[in-house]
Amino acid sequence: MDDIQREFLDIVSQVKAHLEYRRALGMSFVEMASSGDSRSAAPVASKADPVKTVSSLVEKPFVSQSSGLAAVREELGDCTRCKLHKGRKNLVFGEGDPNAALVFVGEGPGQEEDLQGRPFVGAAGQLLTDIIVKGMQLKREDVYICNIVKCRPPGNRNPEPDEIEACEPFLIKQLQAINPQVIIGLGNVAVKTLLKTKEGITSLRGNWKTYQGIPLMPTFHPAYLLRTPSDKRLVWDDIKKVMAEMGKNK
Ligand code: SF4
Repeated sequence: MDDIQREFLDIVSQVKAHLEYRRALGMSFVEMASSGDSRSAAPVASKADPVKTVSSLVEKPFVSQSSGLAAVREELGDCTRCKLHKGRKNLVFGEGDPNAALVFVGEGPGQEEDLQGRPFVGAAGQLLTDIIVKGMQLKREDVYICNIVKCRPPGNRNPEPDEIEACEPFLIKQLQAINPQVIIGLGNVAVKTLLKTKEGITSLRGNWKTYQGIPLMPTFHPAYLLRTPSDKRLVWDDIKKVMAEMGKNK
């Protein structure tokens, strides 16, 4: 056996010992981590890297955002924690890359979202998709999209305080599981809920805030832009700030 073979076997042995140590701690998942800081990959929104090295296995924490999100979804279950469950066809948990560097948080599902069980798939959703794909040059599946409440408020009214209070713990856990580089808060309800402020979106938008240490950009909701297309340019200004923030860590 030559030196290279001996070194290889030594590395394999170290990795095996490390995996057994992790398994003993109850950590059964291995993150597909990059060899560099995953947050430096912007503006590409996915934090995962297909290149898995021996050093990444040894040095990176064994955290699976995917399993974290799945656990949150499982805990939510067939939720009846607030009255919104009574009128829903589908609970809309959220969708996208569990490793996303960018998360959009909206208000709540509308009619089409309720029917499909997916967030932002109606007319406002198409506009959001355009912002992501045509504006940011990202794929929709590379970001994560969710809402403050997971069930449709009747008649698309704003979610009420007790409904937000019942559902918010799951949003917090979602965001903790994903741990994105940037959050974009869409509209009054989402931004007020995330920031615990009474200040309106018109004065908040375009100014960086922080949510649990994560930079948060408040901007208008796409549904508002459908009614007020002249304000699309303001949202584009906000999106450019997000792209600059994500790109500066390259
Ligand atoms: Fe549960 Fe949230 Fe739906 Fe209310 S809105 S029933 S808390 S999932």
